[in-house]
Amino acid sequence: PPLRVAIMGLGSYGTRVAEAMRDCKRARLTGVISGTPAKITNWQSKYNIPAANCYNYENFDRIKDNHDIDAVYVITPNALHHDQVIRVAKAGKHVICEKPMAVNAKEGQEMVDACKKANVKLLVGYRMHFEPKTLEIIRMRKEGELGKIGFFQGLSGFTIGDPTQWRLNKALSGGGAMMDIGIYSINGARYMVGEEPVWVTAQETKTNPEKFKPGVDETIQFQLGFPSGAVASCLSTYSMNNLDRFFLDGEKGWAELWPATGYGPIKGRTNKGELTQPHMTHQTVQMDEMAAIIQEGKQPVVPVDGDEAVRDLKIIDAIYEAVRTGKKVELK
Ligand code: NAD
Repeated sequence: PPLRVAIMGLGSYGTRVAEAMRDCKRARLTGVISGTPAKITNWQSKYNIPAANCYNYENFDRIKDNHDIDAVYVITPNALHHDQVIRVAKAGKHVICEKPMAVNAKEGQEMVDACKKANVKLLVGYRMHFEPKTLEIIRMRKEGELGKIGFFQGLSGFTIGDPTQWRLNKALSGGGAMMDIGIYSINGARYMVGEEPVWVTAQETKTNPEKFKPGVDETIQFQLGFPSGAVASCLSTYSMNNLDRFFLDGEKGWAELWPATGYGPIKGRTNKGELTQPHMTHQTVQMDEMAAIIQEGKQPVVPVDGDEAVRDLKIIDAIYEAVRTGKKVELK
């Protein structure tokens, strides 16, 4: 039987996931959690969700007694994930959580520990880990077709609009562009190079302190060093366009994705030519694959669990520390 999923947070990305799940073979939307009654009514009729599977932020602990829901997908503002994921775990349901999983590594680790204790799985919405062109480059690198890797460049950014949105409110976002979009370059550097970084340096630029208040980063350039000697150079920004590009360079070959992490189609080429793997709606593939991970213990090529998310959060912590101190930060 398919994995029965309730979505928490019926905003723009929650809606995208719900629409993509219509085409899932192994996962089905069976419940909702929202603070807005009108949204619940609308989703009930759109997705045929019974009243018994509808919850709000006060009463969702009762999902414990619901035998029609196996997992909850948390798609709310970043700073809320920590408490919400721990409540879902305590209710005995598997959790899928959006990126960034938390706003720092300490909170992320608490989420991992709570899910372990409750004996539920914790997965994070790293949809690129299932994207065919991305996986082809990872295969080429693993099989040595690119030779020894020396360099990765990740450019992640867009111009953010409405200054009143939660993404620019530190209490809800936990930070700025780094939390939201820079994380794609951090995560990408790790799965493209295939190693964990051992040091970080970072520099911040702020052109608009009115829009980007203290604690909300506008633009950060950062560098990562890997045990093999490979290095990464990345840009995270809320003030520039067309920045969604990955470039991986090895002794024998190179690969480029541009766009690298948008909703698609992803475009890519290598020294051998264009990548031709077909586009599939990321969220449909992700939810089918996550159902297999939760139900059958399937191992994805690139992990999507809570430990994977904590690795990114430790790097984000280190980047913010490097910005603050101006020093190179060693990663353990
Ligand atoms: P959004 O603002 O469109 O939706 C957020 C939802 O949370 C809204 O429905 C809002 O009503 C609800 N919410 C609940 N409590 C709230 C509170 N106290 N304050 C504000 N809103 C509250 O945002 P979104 O774009 O859907 O992003 C939600 C999460 O999904 C974020 O963590 C974001 O990083 C992530 N996301 C991931 C991807 C991806 O490609 N994986 C894409 C977009 C967003």
